[in-house]
Order: sequence, then C-alpha cells, then structure tokens
Amino acid sequence: MTLKEKEKSWKEISIAAVCWKPSTEFLTGDWKTYKPVRDPAKCTRCLLCVIFCPDGAIHWKADRNDIEFDYNYCKGCGVCANECPVKAIEMKLE
Ligand code: SF4
Ligand code: SF4
Repeated sequence: MTLKEKEKSWKEISIAAVCWKPSTEFLTGDWKTYKPVRDPAKCTRCLLCVIFCPDGAIHWKADRNDIEFDYNYCKGCGVCANECPVKAIEMKLE
C-alpha cells in the first residue's frame, strides 16, 4: 500500500476545534519584523495583494481609489510583496 492510499479523506477526519474569539480582539501587527511598504507610483491597484493577504490587512478604499495597509493586523509575512505582479511592495525591517 502506498502512502497516498493510507491518507484519510476529509470525511474521515474528526472536526477540529475552532477559535472562539475573533482575531479582531488581538492586534497581531506587533508580531512583525518586516513591514510591507508600497510604492504608489508602481502600484496598478490590481488588488491581488488584498486578495492574497492571509490576515485581511490590506483594504480597498473606494473613496480614495486606493489600497491601505492596516499595520495593526499585518504580521509581516511578505505574501503581498511576493504576489505583487509589478513588485510595488518592499518588505522593510521595522
Ligand atoms: S505582509 Fe502579510 S499580513 Fe502584512 S499586508 Fe502583506 S500579506 Fe498581509
Ligand atoms: S498587488 Fe501590487 S500592484 Fe496590485 S494593488 Fe497590491 S501593491 Fe498594487
């Protein structure tokens, strides 16, 4: 039997615990070592970083037709910088 054949399907795995407190109660932004800094001149407002940010820390501001980082929740993972197609985001040491 191969390793793949031994793996359980999602239906066979027990239900996992769910965190009972919303993350909005914890300002996780102070975890970060590196901070994403965007060059507005390079940014095309494609919103890929908004979609990819695992912490929902980048918001679209329709009134300004622009994005905004919420550093209270950004953990500095660098996913946004990695996914930005025009390399408009640089991770800078805090
Ligand atoms: S560094 Fe990570 S957490 Fe911070 S805005 Fe980028 S994707 Fe989100
Ligand atoms: S992914 Fe890059 S170009 Fe697109 S909105 Fe974010 S910073 Fe701007």
